[in-house]
Amino acid sequence: MKARYQYRFYPTEQQRQSLAQLFGCVRVVWNDALRACKDSEKLPNNGDLQKVFITQAKQTEDKEWLGEVSVTPLQQSIRDLGVAYTNYFNSLKDKRKGKKVGSPKFKKKENKQTARFTERGFSIKGEQVYLAKIGNVKPIWSRELPAPPSSVTVIKDCANRYFLSFVAEVIPEIKPAQNQSIGIDLGIKTFAFMSNGESAKAPSYTKLDRKVRRLQKKLARQQKDSNRRYQTRLRVAKKHNQIADTRKDFLHKLSTKIVRENQSIVLEDLNVSGMVKNRKLSRAISLQGWREFRTLCEAKSEKFGRDFHVISRWEPTSQICSDCGFKWGKLNLSIRSVVCLNCGSEHDRDENAAKNIQKVGIEPRHDSKWTGRAGKTGSPAQLCELSRITVASAR
Ligand SMILES: [Zn+2]
Repeated sequence: MKARYQYRFYPTEQQRQSLAQLFGCVRVVWNDALRACKDSEKLPNNGDLQKVFITQAKQTEDKEWLGEVSVTPLQQSIRDLGVAYTNYFNSLKDKRKGKKVGSPKFKKKENKQTARFTERGFSIKGEQVYLAKIGNVKPIWSRELPAPPSSVTVIKDCANRYFLSFVAEVIPEIKPAQNQSIGIDLGIKTFAFMSNGESAKAPSYTKLDRKVRRLQKKLARQQKDSNRRYQTRLRVAKKHNQIADTRKDFLHKLSTKIVRENQSIVLEDLNVSGMVKNRKLSRAISLQGWREFRTLCEAKSEKFGRDFHVISRWEPTSQICSDCGFKWGKLNLSIRSVVCLNCGSEHDRDENAAKNIQKVGIEPRHDSKWTGRAGKTGSPAQLCELSRITVASAR
């Protein structure tokens, strides 16, 4: 299994300049090749693109500077473009797992910059990493590389931070899980509700997000191409990074814990893009990172040899008693707790949903009660039906 290992590094002034030049060349090659792909009816092959946009371009007067940087990242850029097209076509044909992939986009100078070196273009000597025509850099080795890497991507993010991102083959260490299965209900106020009764609260992004919004307003007012605007843009990027790092840390820790402890993990398929269209909710939802969480759980399940299930969002997980399967119908969002009319057990709304998610994921549909069609169906509960609803207060 391939895994990524990322380390920060601080280039010298000379290396910064060489890297800026390299990023520029990679961008030009990618953009030229992409333009050619978009303009031709049939996708040109890799070799032809490399010949025209690297080898031949170097010989022309206006692109001869392409010869001043290492050729490996340039070739890799065209290969990556090929991969981007394959992913896009597979996504169109529904052959690809996960999120939809759009068609490849032109690279911009203002965005994150990358250059990928394959085996011929880099080597690791002790603490140092040698990059062709850049020199030796010394990353901060925050954790050990498990195996010799097959490639390294040099990254400069929008906040001007530099990283080396290695791809290495790892052999997953599979340990048995203590628990059979878990169902997880994702929400906004409480990030995750687990069928075992546990819950996880996400860190608050509100303060940082408010700062980002204020800076973005400022940015919109500032004059284009001015130095002040550039400074504000840098500050926005830094704040964004802070939010992303906090979220990543939280999601990584939670997903690792869940996947370590359980053999089967069941999530509900949330219509995130549909929800994001609701403008009031969109910012809060985008900040949560549900999709990221799902991707992490899925990847880690594979790594640890666990079963990962996603159940349809149309399963009526909040309308059914997780003890007896009685269907009480739709509940108003303000209702947090329910007493089942059939068996008398009291449920917390979210925990009940999490338990149902677990059940549906583990026993797919052989119990007719869980399909929500053949089972006993109650009418939607109303706030006035006090016998059925014990607590009616918003969280
Ligand atoms: Zn019941």
